[in-house]
Amino acid sequence: MSTELSPDTQALAGLLEQARKEYDELAGRGLSLDLTRGKPAPEQLDLAEDLLSLPGGRHTAADGTDVRNYGGLRGLPELREIFAELLQVPAGQLLALGNSSLELMHDCLVHALLGEVPGATSRWVDQEPIAFLCPVPGYDRHFSLCRRFGIDMIPVAMTPDGPDMAEVERLVAENPAVKGIWCVPKYSNPDGVVYSDETVARLAAMPTAAPDFRIFWDNAYAVHDLTDEPAEIADLLAACAAAGHEDRAFVFGSTSKITSAGAGVAFFGSSPANVKWLLEANQKRSIGPDKINQLRHVLFLKDADGVRAHMTRHRTLLRPKFETVARILEAELGGTGLATWTSPKGGYFVTLTVPDGCAKEVVRRAAEAGIVLTPAGATHPYGDDPRDAVIRVAPSYPNLAELEQAILGLAVCVRLVGYERGVVAVR
Ligand code: PLP
Repeated sequence: MSTELSPDTQALAGLLEQARKEYDELAGRGLSLDLTRGKPAPEQLDLAEDLLSLPGGRHTAADGTDVRNYGGLRGLPELREIFAELLQVPAGQLLALGNSSLELMHDCLVHALLGEVPGATSRWVDQEPIAFLCPVPGYDRHFSLCRRFGIDMIPVAMTPDGPDMAEVERLVAENPAVKGIWCVPKYSNPDGVVYSDETVARLAAMPTAAPDFRIFWDNAYAVHDLTDEPAEIADLLAACAAAGHEDRAFVFGSTSKITSAGAGVAFFGSSPANVKWLLEANQKRSIGPDKINQLRHVLFLKDADGVRAHMTRHRTLLRPKFETVARILEAELGGTGLATWTSPKGGYFVTLTVPDGCAKEVVRRAAEAGIVLTPAGATHPYGDDPRDAVIRVAPSYPNLAELEQAILGLAVCVRLVGYERGVVAVR
């Protein structure tokens, strides 16, 4: 029997040896870098510094409301006017509320569980078990909300146009327990997918077995473009109304990644019946939102064009970071067959896909070398990516020098794990 190694095996042995050396060198550098969460960098937060000294001495809204006092459950009309256009919700159907859209999604789930949404025959809590469709990869905090409330999660594959609509239509048509779907329609977290007009039309029109089915339309990245050609998405609320499903959509958004993350303003938009439903529920838990913060936002942002102009400043800071990620991944992993990655036109994330069975190990090796990534699997319901292949990269927070080091180090880990697992290089 011949003991000669095939050229592929020899090549792999050489590559593995090289990758091990590079990894040892990386681990010896004592790095401490964090690519976990899509947080704005301090320079981005500085862009809204002037907002912090507003509203100055002023404390009346356009209609004379004293913003220091209780009341105004819908939020300031002038702020709702600004975001109506950006979130594709008529101002009269848009509420400006607290500081976090995730809180609003949480509250809508709680209110639907404990009180009937319009069109429901009973509370969701009385119909258990209920389920939500979860396009994957998706946003881990959506999945955490489902887990917290015992809502079953059914994964649906993402396509370049949004969720696999044939699968969505089949699941909602046959199963009345399916009460909702999570959607991040523009620059989805983490794939950067923009829903096509056809996807929006089909979501609006599809027959559902549940009469109280809701689309949780988390438009978190509505104005967060990374190119000079903003993606446009179709108007879901209008499409639902036109299809005779006026109450189907809950639209969410916030200024967390426009002004201040944690001290911005969150929005809820929907049909008149849904807005009334949420207002009635909110009335029990609050005597009104923080209108001082809302006035501050009106004075700072001024109008929809003011928001767009502000977002170009974010883009100036963010774009070089996404370009850095793309450049380094191409230089380090291009042509190796070890990874593919997204080149999003907006949003906050890059998805790195490694060979099946490698994502957890890459994340573990990176952590050991001082580079913290979002846990592999977090992009899937129950933390379970069945292929163990998806890694979410969040480039916004580190500065460029740190980001460069982190992505270079990540590439070393991908090579190490890939070659350990026997993925033969082709370059
Ligand atoms: N929705 C998505 C898709 C997000 O990526 C994030 C934050 O990263 C949020 C919601 C959180 O929004 P907020 O700060 O308004 O709660």
